[in-house]
Amino acid sequence: MSYSTDNIFAKILRAEAPAAKVYEDAKTLAFMDAMPQVPGHTLVIPKYPSEDLFGIPPDDLAATIKSVQLVGRAVRAAFESTGIMIAQLSGREAGQTVFHLHFHILPRHHGLELKFHAREFEDIAVLESHAQKIRDQLARQS
Ligand code: AMP
Repeated sequence: MSYSTDNIFAKILRAEAPAAKVYEDAKTLAFMDAMPQVPGHTLVIPKYPSEDLFGIPPDDLAATIKSVQLVGRAVRAAFESTGIMIAQLSGREAGQTVFHLHFHILPRHHGLELKFHAREFEDIAVLESHAQKIRDQLARQS
């Protein structure tokens, strides 16, 4: 399968679809997952158009992982979570549903189970308030 520019994350990158953004630099973008599995579920994507983990040049992948660490630290502080889960699904059989490479950042808490993957849309006002908490932490870190 080759990269399709019709995917929703490509549209977010082109500002043709909305997103509760938390971070952006020359090579990466981070925004709230619209169907969060836990409060604070955040996605980090490269701007490079790669369908999955295997189609991206190493430098762009390195920049993406750097952003995962930066944003992950802010998510951890914003949601007072001691456990951060990072997930990356490559391929339909692995559960991938959006075919633009992305890393999930999931703050975990004792006793709080993950909701189903990509199932239920969250209210945009809730996503925006979560994004603001993370942006506040990023501002504090810089
Ligand atoms: P995956 O199944 O690993 O490809 O993950 C795709 C993720 O994108 C899921 O967690 C979805 O909830 C999320 N998602 C789908 N559409 C949007 C959207 N418009 N904005 C933000 N996140 C989305």
